[in-house]
Amino acid sequence: MPGVIIIGAGLAGLSLACELVDEGYEVLILEKESHLGGRASNTIDEKTGDAVPIGPHIFLASYNNFRRFLQKIGAEESIFYDRRVFTEFVYDRKRYEYLIADIPGGMLTMYRMMRYPFTKWYDQLSNLRLAAAILFSPDERFEKLDDITALDYLRSQGVTTRCIDMYWRMFVMSFLNIPIERCSAAEFCLLLKFWTKQSDRCVGLGTKGLGDIYTGKAEAYITSRGGKILRNAAVMSVACRDGKVEHLVVQQGGKERKIRADLYVSTLPPPELVKVVPPELESHFGGLRNLQGVPYITVNIWFDRKITDKKFWALVTDGNQRYMNTDFYDQSNLYTGKPTSFITSNIIYSHAYHAMTDDKIVARTVEEIREAFPDMQAKVVHSVVHRLPYVIYAPYPGMRQHKLSQETPIPNLFLAGDWTIREHPQSMEAAVRSGFKCAERILTSRGKDKSLCDDRIL
Ligand SMILES: Cc1cc2nc3c(=O)[nH]c(=O)nc-3n(C[C@H](O)[C@H](O)[C@H](O)COP(=O)(O)OP(=O)(O)OC[C@H]3O[C@@H](n4cnc5c(N)ncnc54)[C@H](O)[C@@H]3O)c2cc1C
Repeated sequence: MPGVIIIGAGLAGLSLACELVDEGYEVLILEKESHLGGRASNTIDEKTGDAVPIGPHIFLASYNNFRRFLQKIGAEESIFYDRRVFTEFVYDRKRYEYLIADIPGGMLTMYRMMRYPFTKWYDQLSNLRLAAAILFSPDERFEKLDDITALDYLRSQGVTTRCIDMYWRMFVMSFLNIPIERCSAAEFCLLLKFWTKQSDRCVGLGTKGLGDIYTGKAEAYITSRGGKILRNAAVMSVACRDGKVEHLVVQQGGKERKIRADLYVSTLPPPELVKVVPPELESHFGGLRNLQGVPYITVNIWFDRKITDKKFWALVTDGNQRYMNTDFYDQSNLYTGKPTSFITSNIIYSHAYHAMTDDKIVARTVEEIREAFPDMQAKVVHSVVHRLPYVIYAPYPGMRQHKLSQETPIPNLFLAGDWTIREHPQSMEAAVRSGFKCAERILTSRGKDKSLCDDRIL
């Protein structure tokens, strides 16, 4: 069986490798970091011994490909699914328990949302035209909306400003990670369609450190079937000859060497991929330079006592940037099991806070935790702030044309990665979908047709 080199051991690379070793391919993964999991990984905090996520993640029950990957490697039990409550929203110290029934598209959504305390009943009714457009329009129609913003689209559907500010802003920031006035209407509508199609609508949270859920088990699955993973092995360039990839230049332990295989797959995010492809492929890959990263700051704070028994809550993103953080998780109620709170949170699209010191970020985050728990007496004992320049590419208007699919003009070079999927927002599900789709393309190129990617929404 041919040898395949996969560049990157994130979810796309690991899920692809699991499929290919099952088919008898000789697989080598090259990963530049010392740990696996890429953007869905964790490290261990030296002071507390706790697993610290790169940034907290939520899983959805409708991540059907991601769940199949976890089942395959025996890791599905590490996710806890809440079938009643999605999260709790907090604004101006008022709280609203957001149930699964509140998620757009459910039978009871409109009835439930009439009770949403941050809008009036007529704001919720102003969504009716939007609901009809999402439910009854085919996906192809949404593709045409990539040149306008989600904000302009919502206004054109008659949605009130208050509903946009107190509901849709938060939805777009949480799931597409950019402000609504900068977000592509196509991305927004496709996301909404995805939400309305799901039949299993609950949210899942990890009961282990994020990468600990799957990286060890995926590595064991791959290596027990003959695959190999090289850590600290950074691909510096892809060299082509006679219209095919001939070798990769790889740096490991301060030395560079050439590594060859029959087939090559990049799972790199666009900013990393453009650094390694040769200039002769500029016409295919050059458009990726338009895809700019969304930065995050993620905040980890350990307290001297328990603050709450809640697992997950969120602050409502209004039009005035009242809050810096969006979503909060008390990991002591998820996986540390300790009697003291360890709270992680995400500051999404964090450009406005880049000049702020870590100490100020932690102090302001504590104040934002107090919004949900005004009587909190707990003191901070330790904190870690992560600054991440690239979480996903920013789905601004006009960017969808730059997305690439799994095949390239080079017959022995394939692509995977969350950004290569058109029908699903960049996420863990999109990463695994891309791994499965890429495996399908590789098998087809070798004369075998096999369906691996489940395109249904469960
Ligand atoms: C803070 C944060 C919060 C998120 N929240 C959620 C969430 O709640 N729900 C959700 O579904 N998704 C969430 N995501 C997105 C999700 O994590 C990603 O979509 C997914 O992990 C992408 O996987 P990937 O395999 O496509 O890419 P990556 O994980 O980026 O994998 C690429 C790999 O390539 C390696 N690499 C890079 N350059 C080289 C090189 N030159 N040579 C060799 N290796 C290289 C990298 O180290 C990495 O391991 C979040 C992401 C972040 C960072």
